[in-house]
Amino acid sequence: MQGVGFRPYIYALANQLQLGGLVRNDAQGVLIEVEGAPAELEAFLDALPAQAPPLAVVEQVETEAMEPTGQAVFTIVASEVGGPAHVLLSPDTATCSDCLRDLFDPGDRRYRYPFVNCTNCGPRLTIIRGVPYDRPATTMADFPMCSECSREYHDPTDRRFHAQPVCCPRCGPRLRLTTPAGAEVGGDPIRRAAELLRDGFVLAVKGLGGYHLAVDATNDTAAATLRSRKHREDRPFALLVPDVETADRLCAVGPAERAALTGLERPIVLLPRRADGQVAPSVAPGQGWLGLMLPYTPLHHLLAVEIDRPCVLTSGNVSDEPIAYDDDDAYVRLAGIADYFLTHNRPIHRRVDDSVVRVVGGRPALVRRSRGYVPRPLSLPWSFSQPVLACGAELKNTFCVAKGQHAFVSHHIGDLENYETLRSFTDGIEHFRQLFDVEPQLVAHDLHPEYLSTKYAMDLGTDAGAAAGGIELVGVQHHHAHIASCLADNGVAGPVIGVAFDGLGFGTDGTMWGGEFLVADLCDFERAAHLDPVPLPGGGAAVREPWRMAAAYLTRAYGRDLPARLDVVRRNEARWTHVLAAAHAGVNTPVTSSMGRLFDAVAAVVGLRDTVTYEGQAAIELEQRADPTERGRYPASVAAGWPLRIHGADIVRAVVEDLHGGTDVATISARFHNTVAGLVVDICGLVRDRTGLSTVALSGGVFQNALLHERTVAALAHEGYDVLTHSRVPTNDGGISLGQAAVAGARNRSGNA
Ligand code: ZN
Ligand code: ZN
Ligand code: FE
Repeated sequence: MQGVGFRPYIYALANQLQLGGLVRNDAQGVLIEVEGAPAELEAFLDALPAQAPPLAVVEQVETEAMEPTGQAVFTIVASEVGGPAHVLLSPDTATCSDCLRDLFDPGDRRYRYPFVNCTNCGPRLTIIRGVPYDRPATTMADFPMCSECSREYHDPTDRRFHAQPVCCPRCGPRLRLTTPAGAEVGGDPIRRAAELLRDGFVLAVKGLGGYHLAVDATNDTAAATLRSRKHREDRPFALLVPDVETADRLCAVGPAERAALTGLERPIVLLPRRADGQVAPSVAPGQGWLGLMLPYTPLHHLLAVEIDRPCVLTSGNVSDEPIAYDDDDAYVRLAGIADYFLTHNRPIHRRVDDSVVRVVGGRPALVRRSRGYVPRPLSLPWSFSQPVLACGAELKNTFCVAKGQHAFVSHHIGDLENYETLRSFTDGIEHFRQLFDVEPQLVAHDLHPEYLSTKYAMDLGTDAGAAAGGIELVGVQHHHAHIASCLADNGVAGPVIGVAFDGLGFGTDGTMWGGEFLVADLCDFERAAHLDPVPLPGGGAAVREPWRMAAAYLTRAYGRDLPARLDVVRRNEARWTHVLAAAHAGVNTPVTSSMGRLFDAVAAVVGLRDTVTYEGQAAIELEQRADPTERGRYPASVAAGWPLRIHGADIVRAVVEDLHGGTDVATISARFHNTVAGLVVDICGLVRDRTGLSTVALSGGVFQNALLHERTVAALAHEGYDVLTHSRVPTNDGGISLGQAAVAGARNRSGNA
């Protein structure tokens, strides 16, 4: 990778061991020639990967003996102009400890300068306009370096050698605090901003990959004001906390959580909330969890220290729009929300959202892989013989470009349902093609004909590709892509028993799948088992209104003889008959085998939620309610035949019986989770008997549910299975593009793309 201080590191190491030679970048990576005594050479090779700078990725070291040339000095050879276009770019990285020292040292020339950075930290992807990655190709192009910065930049022994965004108060960007009309507010911008936050105002704060909206998280009026101005109903706000100690006062922070919070990537970490944590109710209404993050830019560090209390830091947008990152656009779109703007004149080239991590089973699981992770390449144990573009799914979209042994999964694009998001999707693809020098020959896409990502692929396949004489389209079934994503995540080719549980994905039979057991490898799959399909009354309406799924499942379980006194029926009486009649007549009613929708049905039946305001809300609340000590489970019958069909309606019937017997929601919820985990083990047993396979891959958004995930993994391991889960990409649809790319590559290698 460039700009991560690798060559200066090699230079220093060689000098320290008194070795002669040279280091330079080439098309394959870094080439080093060293000459000296055998013991020193050995020490050099040992230290090389072990002590590499934090942002460098040493994938492999190959050595070869050469004739000595009598070289006594060690030099850094400049990259040739027009040299390798294939350079690996590092992600935007949290301010390093050395830069923090500069930031808070009154004697340093960068004291309290909010743009301090070096080769070990600072902005990268968000400021890169093109290649080669050099200052003129970044949004720092308009800030010529002063003589002192220039000296550091050109000194191989300096921490800022070739750090493209290097700058100081004399030559770099400036912070400003303004009104929504753009009028400058006097005084020190950081101190003034902190005062305004403490006084309850809403601030727009320009971050690394976009604008955030900030309020004092201990002030309920402020948080409620932000919620209503943003039109955000229930979805929790993320918080910026100054340090781990503050995080630990609000939430239970275990060792894995602490590692995730303090890692270089600085994601938002979802943490179980402490009952006595001082956070205003409107921050995360009814939530047992809070999303916390530590400061990751000098600006955030200065602000966090100054305000000295938790502060909401949520995306700068109205409801579901993409976050604002362009200054003019931000002042237009956020004018009705923010009372003041804390902004600066270093442009953001690429919108990159905060990443989100949750610790599941003691390991960090990515809920959203974006800032801090992207565009770090995922290396795979097999090679793409032709360059691939995978277009991803519709919700939580990411795309992926792949070539050689690397897959580059994009930042979080969002839900492809408005013009703005679609534009970041198409712009993002262009940017990645340019940055990684990929001319896709294979274009992988979902089978859903209405996904905008599918349509984009189809367009490439028809005009551009046909004209260029050779783009091949590769359609990949949604749940096969989930399982392939899990395989690629683990560097495994299969075959495996794949368990894909999610919301909705287009099946090969034209129905909506989502509770699937597949026998799959990277090339292909066979459907081995699934939930017995039920109607999805009203299509998309059934996703927003879980009570409709309750109606579908209760009808399947009881026909017309619904048990009396069911609250979910009473609450929705006015629409119940009408919706079921429409479903019965097949009006706007696809059928689905979705596991996510079964969670919705159960959440509605037990009275947790009839409607949702964001995806997965009902299942999240069901998980939070579950009593973790409860071990009981419900029976569910499986119809004979192949693929096996699991009667989800049996489970709903058992839930109703428990309700009528007076069992509390916490117990029912736990029993339901145990039932689903138990079903996975039962069905995998049947598939193992038939196929001899004993590796199980778990994927799909439903496995974001930590309780279900942990119970399922434990139960499978107990039965002797090898269990594969996600770690490098999310288990939700954010990981789909990697799976699609892996399938396209594998089919291409086997000659049947
Ligand atoms: Zn630094
Ligand atoms: Zn300077
Ligand atoms: Fe999915």
